[in-house]
Amino acid sequence: NADAAMYRAKETGKNNCQFYAHEMNASLEHKLALMEGLRTALAERQFRLLYQPKVDVETGRVFGVEALLRWHHPQRGVVGPDQFIPLAEESGAIVDIGEWVLLTACRQARAWRDAGLAPVTISVNVSARQFDEARLVQRVQRALERSGLEPEWLELEVTESLVMRDLRESVEKMRALERMGIALAIDDFGTGYSSLAALKSFPISCLKIDQSFVRDLDSSADDQAIARAIISLSHQLQLRVIAEGVETGAQRDFLLRNGCREMQGYLFGRPLPPEEIQRLLEGQATVPA
Ligand code: C2E
Ligand code: MG
Ligand code: MG
Ligand code: MG
Repeated sequence: NADAAMYRAKETGKNNCQFYAHEMNASLEHKLALMEGLRTALAERQFRLLYQPKVDVETGRVFGVEALLRWHHPQRGVVGPDQFIPLAEESGAIVDIGEWVLLTACRQARAWRDAGLAPVTISVNVSARQFDEARLVQRVQRALERSGLEPEWLELEVTESLVMRDLRESVEKMRALERMGIALAIDDFGTGYSSLAALKSFPISCLKIDQSFVRDLDSSADDQAIARAIISLSHQLQLRVIAEGVETGAQRDFLLRNGCREMQGYLFGRPLPPEEIQRLLEGQATVPA
């Protein structure tokens, strides 16, 4: 009987191994297939940008939008950035994709302005490999020139972990971007590691409170303390602060009560195609061009 049990256990173990091996092959295959697809995705125009409103909750105004990338895969449908940006980083495809994002976003912002809509800042995410690229600053400059967008309407979002890898190099690059008149924001703030000393030396204008601290604001005293601390730190350092992932009225009220008036999240608007952003902006006061 004991032997039979042992035998069963062994068999099950073996099956589990086969099962895991099978799963692993499946995910590896999935990854390789996506990587292969990424090589032609740009040429085949499979990327789209969505834009998520950033709202000043005190006035109700949309003052900016964040460009968020989507891949319309011919077989798999819409693939989100968390699934393919890491692969594009690994293969290097991110450099060209990132350049397309930058130019497309700048052109879109310019087009909204030309349509007579109230101006909004356009925020673009930059990943590690893009940031490391020697020609990053020239690429940004070129996107501005080609689109005709003034630099003060462009903001780049970088993460703490990204800029902390090589502090001196990062600060130098950020200064060059700042001199061009571009704003820099630290994305997902609080999730990476950055020293306060480093933060002080960054030529940034905004901290984005990561959505992981916003999610449980209603119930978690710790998250409340963290959110308050980030807001107060921003104020002390004379930085703007924006909360990401705001989904409920209670989260909004807490943030507003504690001095954070800029917010982004499903409560105010999901990432939207450009036509819908246009409609949203049409509802706002226009300014003469
Ligand atoms: P992120 O820059 O921190 O962007 C915020 C993410 O949160 C977006 O996911 C957005 O759709 C989502 N989000 C916004 N509001 C809410 C909310 O109320 N609740 C919840 N649960 N989620 C919300 P998305 O679009 O899937 O992008 C994921 C990440 O991919 C981004 O995080 C960014 O790091 C990266 N990414 C997106 N577009 C680009 C791009 O063009 N270039 C690069 N390098 N990275 C990008
Ligand atoms: Mg971002
Ligand atoms: Mg973020
Ligand atoms: Mg994120």
